[in-house]
Amino acid sequence: MSSTKTYHIAVLPGDGIGPEVTAEACRVLEAIAPSMKGVDFKFSEHSVGAGEFLKSGNPLPEEAFDACRQADAVLLGAMGLPNVRWPDGREMTPQIDIRERLDLYAGPRPIYLFSAEDSPLKGYEAGSIDFVIVRENTEGLFTARGATQAADGSEACDVLKLTRKGCERICRYAFELAMKRRKKCTLVDKANVLPSMVFFRKIFYEVAADFPEVETECVYVDAAALFFVQRPETYDVLVTENMYGDILSDLAAGLVGGMGIAPSGDLGTDCAVFQPSHGTAPDIAGQGKANPLATILSAAMMLEWLDHPETIKAGERIREAVKAALLDPTKRTGDMGGRLSTREMGDLILSHLD
Ligand code: ATP
Ligand code: MG
Repeated sequence: MSSTKTYHIAVLPGDGIGPEVTAEACRVLEAIAPSMKGVDFKFSEHSVGAGEFLKSGNPLPEEAFDACRQADAVLLGAMGLPNVRWPDGREMTPQIDIRERLDLYAGPRPIYLFSAEDSPLKGYEAGSIDFVIVRENTEGLFTARGATQAADGSEACDVLKLTRKGCERICRYAFELAMKRRKKCTLVDKANVLPSMVFFRKIFYEVAADFPEVETECVYVDAAALFFVQRPETYDVLVTENMYGDILSDLAAGLVGGMGIAPSGDLGTDCAVFQPSHGTAPDIAGQGKANPLATILSAAMMLEWLDHPETIKAGERIREAVKAALLDPTKRTGDMGGRLSTREMGDLILSHLD
């Protein structure tokens, strides 16, 4: 008896270059789908973000949010446009709302050097930079919870709060990931200054006790910024607080070609959103210039996360196609110093799929 497993993928193109880059990722998914035995996709598209706010007054309509919750996985472009804010002036952050409401606590940001030409660092061959930053997504300095502002305008305060539950689950995710990779896990903290980080470090070592095969290390966040540039090859899995993860993942993307090639996932227990690490890039939106690789690689992460032997294989095939496409250093979009359009880069990846 043969039965087909249908995965429902909610696609949220969003604003700016979001629709352009998600269109290419969906083309890649549609092209690879027929080769997967017993697996099928059903896509549904939903309008979210600043454009949706201008239409309906809500950047994250409940219908779209419910679709995200019910889908097997979500593929998101990017959301937000300059000057589109709530009436009280607050910035719109529907992507953070999705993370918090679906409790997507783990934010893996894989950093992989596909081609030596794309790194500003000298002497690094393809594949020699290969690590994953695991960003804690739901607490830490990034959330507005606990923030205050004095009514007289004299001061403002943000709060860096970490919980045992939050630290435990993100460390466990990082160690489990390390077990599937090179078995090294680095905590990036600031335990020399912040008591919250002493707490994080204590829990990191408690979780580490369950993973005796994994080599552990702690590094201060400022030193991590230095070592990323001096010896990025020494890292495998790094786990860190929300804001540190946000900053370090942009730095790390810069080591391998920039934001246009940096994918990401936001993972919960049974929901997950995959999106490029970059934003809506309003400066180049609508011009067909955006690099779709970060979104295509995010789609590959999504296939791996779905965790079916066929989708895992398909995700790997997409990564191999990107690797093969980038062997020719003349084939790049503008952000990586080339002349290909968004569509031409999509075509190039498709041509390497078979
Ligand atoms: P966010 O606050 O959402 O993270 P951001 O302000 O960091 O957004 P981005 O939208 O990521 O900014 O863009 C930063 C710069 O990188 C812009 O100049 C943009 O044109 C460029 N950029 C970002 N993504 C891409 C892409 N996929 N292709 C080409 N250029 C890009
Ligand atoms: Mg940014």
